Amino acid sequence: MEERIYFDHAATTPLDKRVFEKMTPYYIECFGNADSPHALGRKAMGAVDDARDTVARLINANKNEVYFTSGGTEADNWALIGGAYAKRKEGRNEIVVSAIEHHAVLSAAERLGKEGFAVRYLPVNAAGAVEAEEIEKAVNDKTAIVALMAANNETGVLQPIDVAEKVAHRNGALFFTDAVQYAPYMPIDVKKINADMLAFSAHKFYGPKGVGVLYIKNGVRIEKLIGGGEQERGLRGGTLNVAAIVGLATAYDIARREMEKNNEKITALSRLFMEKLDTVYGLNRNGVGENALPSVINLRFDGVENTSFLFNMDLQGVCLAAGSACASASVKPSHVLTAMGLTEKQAKESVRFSFGKNNTEAEIARGAELAIQTIEKLRKAD
Ligand SMILES: *Cc1c(COP(=O)(O)O)cnc(C)c1O
Repeated sequence: MEERIYFDHAATTPLDKRVFEKMTPYYIECFGNADSPHALGRKAMGAVDDARDTVARLINANKNEVYFTSGGTEADNWALIGGAYAKRKEGRNEIVVSAIEHHAVLSAAERLGKEGFAVRYLPVNAAGAVEAEEIEKAVNDKTAIVALMAANNETGVLQPIDVAEKVAHRNGALFFTDAVQYAPYMPIDVKKINADMLAFSAHKFYGPKGVGVLYIKNGVRIEKLIGGGEQERGLRGGTLNVAAIVGLATAYDIARREMEKNNEKITALSRLFMEKLDTVYGLNRNGVGENALPSVINLRFDGVENTSFLFNMDLQGVCLAAGSACASASVKPSHVLTAMGLTEKQAKESVRFSFGKNNTEAEIARGAELAIQTIEKLRKAD
C-alpha cells in the first residue's frame, strides 16, 4: 500500500513493534492454555500473572481487581449490565449514563431499559462536557449505577468524573467510568478516581485489538456476563488470550513511561494543524476548552458534507473519520455532536482528526493542505 497519512488514532492505533515482539512467543512456543496444570500451562499463566501485576501496579490497583476482557466493548457491557443486575437486588431500578457515551455503554443502557430499568441520560453543554448540576439532578436513592466516560472519543473532552463519583457514592450507587480514550494520554490511578469499575482497551495505546481490562474494586460485586470456566476468579469464562494480555500489559507500560513525551509531541502537532487551517473560512471547532485530550480535534466545515470530505481525503491517502468507527457505517449524525446542540446538518459537516505518536510535522502540513484543497473543491462543486 502507498504511504498513507493516518489521522484516526481514536479509532485504533498501530501495534508498537516492541509489543509485537513480546507477544509472538505466546502464539507458537508458549502456546499452553493458562489453566492447564502442566509446564506449558504454568508458563502461560506465569505470563498472565506478570501482565496482571504490571497493569495493577500502573493503575494503583490490587492484582485481584484486574480482569482481562475481549476489549473495551465487553468491559463496558459487563460493567453496566453486571453492575445494574447486582444493584437491582437492593431494589434499585434506575441507571444514569451520559448522552455522549460510546455505543458500547449506550447499547447496554438500552438493553437495561428494555428490561425495566429507567434510563436517565445526562445532557452535555455546548463545549461537550456534562455539568455537575445535571449529575446531581439525575442521581437518587433508586440509582443502581452511574456511567460517565473519562474522556469522549469524538471530541476528546474530559468529563467531570470526580463529581460523578461523589454523587453516585453519596446516593449508594455504583460508579463506572469508560477510560478507553483517556488511558493513552492520562495516567490512571484507581484510588484517586475511586471508581467501582473502570474500563480500558489495548488497541487505543499501540497494543493489540481484542483485549481490554475491567478494573473492579475489591468488595464490589457485579454479576458475570460470560459464563464458562473458572477463569478470571470465576467471573469471566473463556480460555485466556495470553499473547494479547501480554501485549496489553507491555503496551500500557510503554504508554505510561512515554506518556509525557508523546503528549508533548501530539499537543504540538495538534497546534500546528490548527495554525495551518487558520485561514479556512467557515471553520468551527466542536468541543473546545482546556480540559481535553491532546490528540482529538473535531472540526466543522460550513457547507461541506463529511461523507464527501472523508471520501475525497481517503482517495488522497488520508485516513480520517466522522466520529466513532463503530457508528460510521451508518448515515446517522453523531449522537455526541447533536447532544452538544449541533443540528443534524452541522453534525454531518463535522470531521474528527485524531493524531498519534508516529505522526510527523510533514504529515500534519500535508494533511492540512489536502484538507484545505478538498474543502475548496467541495464548496465549488456545490
Ligand atoms: C474504542 C472505544 C471503546 C471500544 O473499545 P474496543 O476495545 O474497541 O471494543 C469503548 N469506549 C470508548 C470511549 C472507545 O473509544
